[in-house]
Amino acid sequence: LLFASWVGATTGDSTLYKDPTQKINMRIKHLMDQMTLEEKIGQMAQLDRVAATQEIMREYSIGSILSGGGSWPHEHMKPEEWVDMLNNFQNGSLSSRLAIPMIYGIDAVHGNNNVYKATIFPHNVGLGATRDPELVRRIGTATALEARATGINYVFAPCIAVCRDPRWGRCYESYSEDPKIVEQMTEIINGLQGEIPPNSRKGVPYMGGKDKVVACAKHFVGDGGTTKGINEHNTVIDWHELLSIHMPGYYHSIIKGVSTIMVSYSSINGVKMHANKDLVTNFLKGTLRFRGFVISDWQGVDKITYPQHANYSDSLLKAINAGIDMVMLPYNFTEFSSILVSHVKNNLIPLSRIDDAVRRILRVKFSMGLFENPIADYSFVDKLGSQAHRDLAREAVRKSLVLLKNGENADSPILPLPKRTSKILVAGSHANNLGLQCGGWTITWEGLSNKNLTVGTTILNAISDAVDPSTEIVYSENPDTEFVKANNFSYAIVVVGEPPYVETKGDNMNLTIPEPGLGTIKNVCDGTKCVVVLVSGRPLVVEPSLPLMDAFVAAWLPGTEGQGVADVLFGDYGFSGKLPRTWFKSVDQLPMNVGDEHYDPLFPFGFGLTTEAIGA
Ligand code: BGC
Repeated sequence: LLFASWVGATTGDSTLYKDPTQKINMRIKHLMDQMTLEEKIGQMAQLDRVAATQEIMREYSIGSILSGGGSWPHEHMKPEEWVDMLNNFQNGSLSSRLAIPMIYGIDAVHGNNNVYKATIFPHNVGLGATRDPELVRRIGTATALEARATGINYVFAPCIAVCRDPRWGRCYESYSEDPKIVEQMTEIINGLQGEIPPNSRKGVPYMGGKDKVVACAKHFVGDGGTTKGINEHNTVIDWHELLSIHMPGYYHSIIKGVSTIMVSYSSINGVKMHANKDLVTNFLKGTLRFRGFVISDWQGVDKITYPQHANYSDSLLKAINAGIDMVMLPYNFTEFSSILVSHVKNNLIPLSRIDDAVRRILRVKFSMGLFENPIADYSFVDKLGSQAHRDLAREAVRKSLVLLKNGENADSPILPLPKRTSKILVAGSHANNLGLQCGGWTITWEGLSNKNLTVGTTILNAISDAVDPSTEIVYSENPDTEFVKANNFSYAIVVVGEPPYVETKGDNMNLTIPEPGLGTIKNVCDGTKCVVVLVSGRPLVVEPSLPLMDAFVAAWLPGTEGQGVADVLFGDYGFSGKLPRTWFKSVDQLPMNVGDEHYDPLFPFGFGLTTEAIGA
């Protein structure tokens, strides 16, 4: 074998890199020896799918395409149509001079969430409440299959942000304020990519087969630590805190063979992460020995300067020299390419830096078997929204719910609720609305308060299915006090919470329960025994209304399988979730995290009452 590769290298067999029996390093070297500078730069670009065409893929040897926040609409495309769309691009890549296949990335952050009918799992904050890494690994396995159902082989997940301030609009994408929990939940990488073989070299990217996807740990680093939780802002932090709070998730992702890492829009002590050579090159690639590729965030390079894109040439210089290997969304590919070519020709970017970037990108592509299996087929289409995955999501929902109040004391529990009673009121904006139940990053980037956003079961429908057929369910979105008092309800379930939001749009300095939800709580809980189920991406200020509630449940953003909520409300399963975050009394206390010196929460980190299952 050694002899054969030596012969190949010296005789100039130009297809040696296609030979899967060759060592990956040899294949990379052999391929790169044949690449022009322009082809190398092409590999470093990730285009939005609306900007990509088969011809562009062929002509410029583009490395990757994504369906990002701006690529809508494709919400009602069937999985087969996704597969066809991807293959169309791939055929462009395969007919390029060196036939280097592209990878296709998507934000599958709680299931393959851009795709209609996909199973939508609880957002990360809810998964943090389960304290169950093994469950999270199974969710990774299911997400990989649902991505593969659409032909996709790369997901921008997991988000391993350690959200230290819930005013941040992305707090729900974070498993916990506690780095230990985030670190444990990197187990999802084993589900997404498969488990690295024993004795693998640390830091080498891995992906284990046609039913797996390349993962991306994001956003490196300190995204969850910005001042006041302002999105894309500055994290003021000393080295010790950075290492102990925001870095462990990366270390553990790298140990698991994570193939890619995305850089954060935010800054560390005033230095934009997209221009931070100390942390990206010296620490991540050097000290932590990460061997996969580093990808920018969406136009993250453009945002190095203000106003955005003001001096792209300079931004690109800084970003590539800082260690970014793949640029998500070059403003304009030909401009991008000519800037980089001239930076290399003028010795502003060493060719060795470009080679390092391309080597890393190709290493991921070879290690995932992309050269052997570039074309997607329909063999996984039936995995999208499959019953097995919906059952898994339902299990995740019931394990994620945190019971914060159950009657006045332990002797007078309200939950579990009886299934057989005369009349129940179900109320609240979030009781019968899949869009609100799923939150941001669902079908569209921002999510939508659209009742029938995708296929799933609302909490109202789940309750109706769960109760005894003799029990009457009355549903009223926002009943007034008279209505509540006039009816003789056995009890009420009030489901309220936050509207869907994403990124900066979710930054919120008040964190109160939005109206009309608060009003619904007052109207209902004043007149009858009530259980309040809060659907939100983070703790909200509840202290003033808590005395009105007979029971209080944090349901986070549960996703499509509302039955998980009914499962625990009616005692088919017990409550087991534990707070993944500190529940503050008022926003003046923020930031306040477990371990802080002045810790005076409403409910402490880790709190969660339990109930016994009373049998299905
Ligand atoms: C987000 C990333 C995401 C990317 C691609 C950005 O706005 O910050 O988390 O992966 O868009 O959609």
